[in-house]
Amino acid sequence: MNQSMNLIDLHCDTLYRLLREKEGQDLKSTDCDVNLSGMREAGTMAQFFACFTYLKDHQKDQSPEEGYEECFHQALEMIDLMEKQCALFPEEIAPARSYEEIIKNKKDGKISAVLTVEEGGILNGNPERIRLLYEKGVRLMTLMWNYENCFGYPNSRDAQVMEQGLKDFGIEMVRQMGELGMIADVSHASDGTFWDILKYAKGPVVASHSNCRALCTHPRNLSDDMIHALADKGGIAGLNFYGAFLGTEKESRIEEMAAHVLHMIKTGGSEFPAVGTDFDGFDGMEHMDVPNMSQMGRLWEALRKKGLSEDQLDLIWGGNALRVLKTLG
Ligand SMILES: [Zn+2]
Repeated sequence: MNQSMNLIDLHCDTLYRLLREKEGQDLKSTDCDVNLSGMREAGTMAQFFACFTYLKDHQKDQSPEEGYEECFHQALEMIDLMEKQCALFPEEIAPARSYEEIIKNKKDGKISAVLTVEEGGILNGNPERIRLLYEKGVRLMTLMWNYENCFGYPNSRDAQVMEQGLKDFGIEMVRQMGELGMIADVSHASDGTFWDILKYAKGPVVASHSNCRALCTHPRNLSDDMIHALADKGGIAGLNFYGAFLGTEKESRIEEMAAHVLHMIKTGGSEFPAVGTDFDGFDGMEHMDVPNMSQMGRLWEALRKKGLSEDQLDLIWGGNALRVLKTLG
């Protein structure tokens, strides 16, 4: 059976690379893990592009609030950058703000670019920013990265941080996201925040780029209880290719990727796993079995050899993500 041509990747940090490290490159010319030819080869239907901001890039000797303010402006620059890429290559890639637009772009032979924000701290306590981001096309927000912010607390090896959840502002924002139709992403959240998001979110909740704690005990990964709870609400998790979340610190092995997918299926059902590569979001790998988007066929083949049916593979590759996107209306 052939690899599905409907791949949806829930997370990459390519915009961050293009903006901060690879000035002058565009989505076609870039040597990033995600580029136009790679997505073509992977059969990409939709790529989620994260506007990721790293507080430490901006904070320096300022307060976190001042740092997050700069982060907000960087996220807006990334949104502009994405719009520019779509304008540069209008025959190849187009923005998508809904399930319907993804389907239409597909019919027109175009890859869909879905905007996300990775670091809810960019709201910096300003509730009106959620609507602004929504209007600019952001359809998923990863509520925190690895720092405390106005939403709540991040994943941590410190048990006290790990049990703290959403702040009042975060609860209100998660409610508003539900009203607007913006997906709340639990990746990077503390355990306490995870459970709070699940409690206050309106629609399905997504872990855009997280693996299974049962196979790799890392605070960024999901426990079996979390997988059950997400799956019960119609949520999904995107398989992350970073070695430290798969199980081997400096290597990204396909055998481990397959094991995480199989565990997700065993625990959450076939409607649970998705793809959230985290391409362009990590460094330091000494070996990667799937080094970039153009090589996604290797993972497909490995999962097929593990005995997954074509229907299961289609769900993982994009069907499950499409189902969630459909609920946004
Ligand atoms: Zn991340």
